[in-house]
Amino acid sequence: MTFEPTREAGLRQLRAFLPNAGRRYAEQRNFDFGADKRDNVSVLSPYLRHRLVTEREVAAAVLERHGPQAPFKFLQEVFWRTYWKGWLEAHPDVWQRYRATLETLHHDMPSGLRKAVESATAGMTGIDAFDHWVHELNETGYLHNHARMWFASIWVFTLRLPWELGAEFFLHHLIDGDPASNTLSWRWVAGLQTKGKTYLATADNISRYTEGRFAPQSLATRAVPLDEPPLAAARPLPLGDQLPRGEDFVLLLCEEDLGIETLGLDKARIRTIGLTSIEDRRTLAGASPGVKTFTQGALEDTAARSRALFPDAPVMLAKPDSLIDWLQSTGIKLLVTPYCPVGPAQEALDALRDEIERLGVRRLSIRRSWDSHAWPHAGKGFFQLGNNIPRILDAEGLPAG
Ligand SMILES: Cc1cc2nc3c(=O)[nH]c(=O)nc-3n(C[C@H](O)[C@H](O)[C@H](O)COP(=O)(O)OP(=O)(O)OC[C@H]3O[C@@H](n4cnc5c(N)ncnc54)[C@H](O)[C@@H]3O)c2cc1C
Repeated sequence: MTFEPTREAGLRQLRAFLPNAGRRYAEQRNFDFGADKRDNVSVLSPYLRHRLVTEREVAAAVLERHGPQAPFKFLQEVFWRTYWKGWLEAHPDVWQRYRATLETLHHDMPSGLRKAVESATAGMTGIDAFDHWVHELNETGYLHNHARMWFASIWVFTLRLPWELGAEFFLHHLIDGDPASNTLSWRWVAGLQTKGKTYLATADNISRYTEGRFAPQSLATRAVPLDEPPLAAARPLPLGDQLPRGEDFVLLLCEEDLGIETLGLDKARIRTIGLTSIEDRRTLAGASPGVKTFTQGALEDTAARSRALFPDAPVMLAKPDSLIDWLQSTGIKLLVTPYCPVGPAQEALDALRDEIERLGVRRLSIRRSWDSHAWPHAGKGFFQLGNNIPRILDAEGLPAG
């Protein structure tokens, strides 16, 4: 399985999956049939992650094809992504604490733990299913959702390794690696996200949903929730800015949101477009070659689409270190970016804040209406947001029932 890093490939994948987004998905999505047979799920995550294809586009296509009832399970899963993004936006300390713990762990890792982690990440634990998923992840940059749950559970409860190191391993290798979905899913498995509720992988469940490909014995039989100091209270959601009207601006895109077609930008006012990538900051060890290839390809594809859409605006691919020089060279005093959620991209942009201000440049951060409609419902458990899905779709002008 390979992922072509273009919007066209994402839209093609969406079209191919559409017939299966209704009952078939609801009935079969939990099966991991193996890397060669993935048509029971959409495998759209790399495209959604980078917004080469947006959640709204996926929802609109699915609703047009099936109406609101049949694809409800699939839409709910798409909203899980939105939910995790919104939840982390309100709890940035969870991301900061995860990063700080990793720094400490790497700085001062006992040799026994280092060896155990090396054995796990080399796929040499002797647990056949787990070792298989390590190799599959290395080779494809993707794992089925159920395999991710089993993997995380075995990592935490059978191998007894720190969840943060497992989350980091995923973020390094997953093409769809996402600060919110990844960190919070690992926390959920470990019993930190929904207090006291853990996920225990069992041989029976693995055997059933891999159709007997694996049935690892010797897995932990209990999953005692991990503990942590209390989290800070949720912060109010930061607001997005309004799109500028009647003012020239520079547009800066990074891999968080490459959906230039659907940002609703004022064509006449875009003077120049910059594209940058921060995949090297995903983890302390950067990102896997597969992640880099996808991200770079996605940026190049976005550069080509930008040139076609805005032929009068020069397009430049830049390293984060050269952004300030580039911005200065444009001479333009308004910088527009899509809203950059909690994670390495936001950290990278925040680190440039003072220099941007010193240039006398104002920065506007444009949040998509999808996020603005959904995130206010993401403060508590998923079901608060889940119950509001029809309302959110309605606010997006999509047929909700
Ligand atoms: C430990 C763990 C780590 C994970 N890390 C990531 C990650 O880094 N990035 C990521 O995008 N997803 C992550 N997920 C969620 C989920 O596994 C993937 O989104 C999904 O497997 C992608 O495959 P798909 O596109 O075929 O999904 P489908 O089942 O076809 O779902 C469609 C879309 O809905 C979203 N989605 C589906 N299930 C979930 C879910 N449980 N949580 C969040 N979004 C979901 C994805 O955007 C997905 O592309 C993680 C799950 C676990 C248990």
